[in-house]
Amino acid sequence: MQILDGKLVSEAIKAQLAAQVAELKAAGKKVPHLAAILVGNNPASETYVASKVKSCAECGYNSTLLRFDAQISEKHLLDQITLLNENPDVDGILVQLPLPKHINEELVINTIDPSKDVDGFHPMNVGKMVSGLPAFIPATPYGIMLLLEHYNIPTKGKHAVVIGRSHIVGTPMSILLSRNTNPGNCTVTLTHSHTHNLSEICREADIIIAAIGKPDFVTADMVKEGAVIVDVGINRVEDASKKSGFRLKGDVKFDEVAPKCSYISPVPGGVGPMTIAALLKNTYHATIGLKGSMN
Ligand code: NDP
Repeated sequence: MQILDGKLVSEAIKAQLAAQVAELKAAGKKVPHLAAILVGNNPASETYVASKVKSCAECGYNSTLLRFDAQISEKHLLDQITLLNENPDVDGILVQLPLPKHINEELVINTIDPSKDVDGFHPMNVGKMVSGLPAFIPATPYGIMLLLEHYNIPTKGKHAVVIGRSHIVGTPMSILLSRNTNPGNCTVTLTHSHTHNLSEICREADIIIAAIGKPDFVTADMVKEGAVIVDVGINRVEDASKKSGFRLKGDVKFDEVAPKCSYISPVPGGVGPMTIAALLKNTYHATIGLKGSMN
């Protein structure tokens, strides 16, 4: 069994990006600038945004964090996005989700200029991704593709089972794995809460992508010997021994599943850091004028 070490791979990607940014700087060109919007004070969102901003600095990017009160009006938020769209110094815009209930997320995403949509959620980028055209790919699935690529995981002709069909993880993951690329060329089964016989389906999987949001959901009896497991879940479970009062757990029961796998990603240290590396790659590509990250 080998660990898919997202921390290690993301560090390598960040080092490469830092070198590329140093080259831009040396040539007198513009360095990447990511603008992040955080509304309210959801603790998980605070953590995610803070690590994105920190990673920008590590790679020599500029970043701007715009923080707004949870009571911000939808109109004011949309106006802020428009200002960022029009600001030539800003290359990438991300709005940390979820947003407060009174704000229409769809409207917010649709307002972001698709050429600055480094989270890849704008329908223009989603449509292009589905059509196999250059597009900004949502950071988590893109990060998983980079992880599979780094470890040369054979995917061609393999049966991949994706658990979870969200627009940010499961659905784009299923599209990317089924495309005629490497990694890719999988036969994909996309599953969700209405799927019958999920355990049986998983037992036939060569690759499982678990993106459910339930700790320890995938157990050893659901996994075929030698399978590749990518655990996307980030679940906070109470832990009195921690200063924060919680610890992070994946969607996969790691201790019992790992011995059966050929490869498995841990939580933390797997998909999380790869998501940030992918976001930085998207932002770099936006800065140098590319229309996307993969095609
Ligand atoms: P969502 O809650 O949006 O989606 C969860 C999906 O799981 C849904 O499609 C749901 O089905 C499905 N599901 C729920 N219960 C079952 C079940 N019993 N059997 C089969 N499918 C089920 O979550 P996200 O996709 O946003 O996130 C998933 C996990 O990944 C979370 O833990 C999240 O924190 C983590 N995450 C991690 C990231 C990272 O950087 N590592 C980034 C983004 C998310 P249905 O559609 O029918 O409701």
